[in-house]
Amino acid sequence: MTATISEETKTRDEIARVGKSIFDRGLTFGSTGNISVRMSDDRMLMTPTNASLGCLDPARLSLFSAEGVHTGGDTPTKEAFLHQCMYCARPHGRAVVHLHSTYSVAVSILKDLNKKDVLPPLTAYYVMRVGCLPLVPYFRPGDQKLAAAVQQAAATSNAVLMANHGPVVAGKSLEEAQYATEELEETAKLFLLLHGRELQPLTPAQRKELSAA
Ligand code: ZN
Repeated sequence: MTATISEETKTRDEIARVGKSIFDRGLTFGSTGNISVRMSDDRMLMTPTNASLGCLDPARLSLFSAEGVHTGGDTPTKEAFLHQCMYCARPHGRAVVHLHSTYSVAVSILKDLNKKDVLPPLTAYYVMRVGCLPLVPYFRPGDQKLAAAVQQAAATSNAVLMANHGPVVAGKSLEEAQYATEELEETAKLFLLLHGRELQPLTPAQRKELSAA
């Protein structure tokens, strides 16, 4: 199936709109953060390297063939491999958002985290939108071992937290990936606000009830 021109145009505009919204609310800064969307013919649009999410030009987004080869637009983000390994691990994923959002990064730096699932189930919306958040150890930027570690962690979760770096989140649509990333950021903020207090997160039974629904 070939993506219609209107789907590609719509996707380009949506990436620019979501990027600006994320940037304007301080969830990303400088040229950090990147977004990708896989279209119905499996070609992928991605934000370029050194681009601010606050002022993306829809016409200059990086375009990849269904085989993952860069075929048009500006040079893609240096973190393109993160997106590609998320799509490998999440066959139903149609969009990926990766941010260096402050509270999520702050949590990723804490010692003695539960590496299988970093944040407790503080609210129902966190459980429904994110669910589980495995932690991937720190690797130097550009180290291909990071891709392998993210892909492995993403086999069982749409959201992965990279230590001393930030979250990468897949969704069935860009809206779903965006909302899950924002829910994760707010839950990381709550987790830090509550530090040192006794917590009463959702119980396993309450969590199960949400998963079933
Ligand atoms: Zn990054």
